[in-house]
Amino acid sequence: MNERIVILGGGESGVGAAILAQQKGYEVFLSDGASLASERRRTLKSKKIDFEEGGHSEELILNASLAIKSPGIPDSAPLVQKLAAKEIPVISEIEFAYRFIDKARVIAITGTNGKTTTSLLTYHLLKTAGYKVALGGNIGKSLAALVAEGGFHYYVVEVSSFQLDGIVNFRPDVAVLLNITPDHLDRYEYNFNKYVTSKFKIVENLTNEQAFIYCADSEPVSEEVSRRKIESSMFAMTASNNDKLSAYLKDEHLIFNFQFKHDAKEYQIPVSEISLIGKHNMVNSMAAVLSALCMEVPIEKVLKGLKNFKNAPHRLEFVKEIDGVAFINDSKATNVDSVYYALDGVKGNIVWIAGGVDKGNDYSQLDELVKEKVKALICMGKDNHALTNYYQSKINVIEEVDSAKKAVEEAFKCADKGDVVLLSPACASFDLFSNYEDRGEKFKQAVSKLSKNLKMKEA
Ligand code: ADP
Repeated sequence: MNERIVILGGGESGVGAAILAQQKGYEVFLSDGASLASERRRTLKSKKIDFEEGGHSEELILNASLAIKSPGIPDSAPLVQKLAAKEIPVISEIEFAYRFIDKARVIAITGTNGKTTTSLLTYHLLKTAGYKVALGGNIGKSLAALVAEGGFHYYVVEVSSFQLDGIVNFRPDVAVLLNITPDHLDRYEYNFNKYVTSKFKIVENLTNEQAFIYCADSEPVSEEVSRRKIESSMFAMTASNNDKLSAYLKDEHLIFNFQFKHDAKEYQIPVSEISLIGKHNMVNSMAAVLSALCMEVPIEKVLKGLKNFKNAPHRLEFVKEIDGVAFINDSKATNVDSVYYALDGVKGNIVWIAGGVDKGNDYSQLDELVKEKVKALICMGKDNHALTNYYQSKINVIEEVDSAKKAVEEAFKCADKGDVVLLSPACASFDLFSNYEDRGEKFKQAVSKLSKNLKMKEA
């Protein structure tokens, strides 16, 4: 009889794992406590994969030889505990998928913030260089689904700490750790150290044949690096000027002291050659460039990719220039930290559109940047008290609006040639919009409309 693999959870990773396990000849059973999305149900049926939904049948689960758990299910779940009590190994989907990667190489990217941007950019650099590249994990397809598809030179995988919790042998050729700030602590008994340990599982199996790229500006990351003995080749990055590190920022250039295996070179890339903006994105760019260099991509190809990369929407996304005023959509910035990077990264005077559902924000970390750059604030929310109270004595011009259209019109009135209108809300969107994407789209539509109206007037 074939080995029996039981998969808990029928989301993207669960169904991906089921497809791969079946392809590799295992007896497969998928069990989901809730109901499945109709598309996933259809996939399982069409592939004749045995499954149940809306509850777990223990007698069909506790006879597994291996269990694969979806990242959403905590170790404390009763079923996971029962599997552990029967000494049935429980692993994550990336661990399972990894076991079937043969010659292809793996770049794994984690961190609290910046994973998607860095994964997309790394994918883009390798793709521009002419390789067959798969992108997945926490974004898009699961790693297992991609491995089942096959035919790739590289897998760029965005990995979450939940996926890392369930690894055993997972050993990426390049591991990237961007930063760690308190998040998801409910899954880690509200213990930040446990979350840090989970993120560092990404280096657990590395040897000096693999590369570990990390951002030294993130204190929890650099502290943990100095505490541990990490076996891999190490690349430290900083968004400041420090020539002791592998990648740093100096005089508007990214500088790389690159040394890996037999290759040692210095590269300088002008910030103007990079399509992304903002200091945090310089670190993301360094990580992607170092990853590509470790994979022996020639620098000319890296440069080409850096220049023509387009990030996922709503992240410091350039929308349009109207009469010399640039409009930037950073709707994804739903907290003060993200706004800090936006205000810091944008050049010139800023008309700042902020507001929405304030989660008890402390705006003081923005004081210096606001003083230096923000000439007007457009508050776009149902209740703007928190913003207006804080900024009434700090910003000369403050307007209140209740739609993206009015925000764009008011902002344009406040802006002069050379200024930037920046939507970077620091707040959640659900008072006026369905989500941050909807907010960003409505902002972009309003900018287009304004541009058309002005053109019509001129004609
Ligand atoms: P993730 O996939 O980890 O959520 P994204 O690339 O989607 O990351 O970026 C989410 C938000 O985090 C962005 O709006 C940006 O403001 C912020 N961000 C991106 N990169 C970094 C970084 N390296 N350090 C800190 N914040 C970042």
